[in-house]
Amino acid sequence: MIPLLLPATSEARRPFVCRVQDSADNLSDAADALIVGSDVAEYMLSGRDGVFAVGRGGTQSLAGDVLLVDPENGRAERIFRHGSRHNTLLVTERCDQLCVMCSQPPKKTHVDRFAYFEEACLLSAKDSVIGISGGEPTLYKEELFRLIERTAEVRPDVGFHILSNGQHFTADDIERLRQPAYRNMIWGIPLYAPNAPLHDEIVGKADAYARLLESFAVLMRAGARVELRTVLLSPNVASLPMLARFITRHLGFIECWSIMQLENIGFAKNRWSNLYVDHRRHFGEIAAAIDTAQMRHVPVRLFNFPRCTVPANYRDLAPASISDWKRKYAPACEGCNEREACAGFFEWHPDADIGRVTPL
Ligand code: SF4
Repeated sequence: MIPLLLPATSEARRPFVCRVQDSADNLSDAADALIVGSDVAEYMLSGRDGVFAVGRGGTQSLAGDVLLVDPENGRAERIFRHGSRHNTLLVTERCDQLCVMCSQPPKKTHVDRFAYFEEACLLSAKDSVIGISGGEPTLYKEELFRLIERTAEVRPDVGFHILSNGQHFTADDIERLRQPAYRNMIWGIPLYAPNAPLHDEIVGKADAYARLLESFAVLMRAGARVELRTVLLSPNVASLPMLARFITRHLGFIECWSIMQLENIGFAKNRWSNLYVDHRRHFGEIAAAIDTAQMRHVPVRLFNFPRCTVPANYRDLAPASISDWKRKYAPACEGCNEREACAGFFEWHPDADIGRVTPL
């Protein structure tokens, strides 16, 4: 797994954000820190916050990375990894839902790091698309909106992909969301069922479905871009075709519908046998849902589906969706012609399943 946290030592009195450079010729911002030495264990860097050391932790290179160095806790967080398309800011661990399969079970406490994240966004690579997740980011809607607006002011090339449970948009947001700052971003919002009882049961919150539909109306009126997300689960697999009909009738404004395979982590780990759907055996329901959506011009994607486990005529819908730092492949994948285009498996996916690949 690619390390996102590295040991660090610094005399600075407070955490600081910096961008790593390996050549003095590349220094262009006051927050740039130059690598002035290295050995097998660590890099030595020099920047406006003094000289500091960051452990290599098996990384090939840190050049271009944006780090949040935390001297008190002796660590550096790789907020943005140079060249990665999978950089995500975890803005809070609080959430007001309790989804049965949550991969990042919520915490009660919140540490506000928006100021650091804003600084990091301004240092990100040109034309980056930055992921934002939680917890539920819109619990801190004002801070989130300010982050988007300030970044857009200075770095209009930077885009955002924000995961939200869609419980907090109101009519008051419409004018703000219509502003140019919100054009270079998309909301990833989950809908798990075509009816309130099942959706509410999956997200562990009464009336969540009704509140979600209100938010969709707000986002539609604001002209927001929305990626609808549905995690495949034993409780909802049978209703996928009905969900597809619901989406085509009522949510035709969405940009795409992502049907997502389950992650064996967080709450899902102990509920795996009750929640996991082997899509190889249930592709009929998935195919019916895809066909319905595509017939009405709603684009569909299959996230976290290894390509060899998807019937050939639907395989193009399954991109390499799993973030590079948490992706693995089976030994047999070495000889597969489609490995580059394939999601592979989550690092924590059960080994027994991984052995069932059939290289293409
Ligand atoms: S053999 Fe491996 S790389 Fe090839 S499609 Fe299957 S899971 Fe993906």
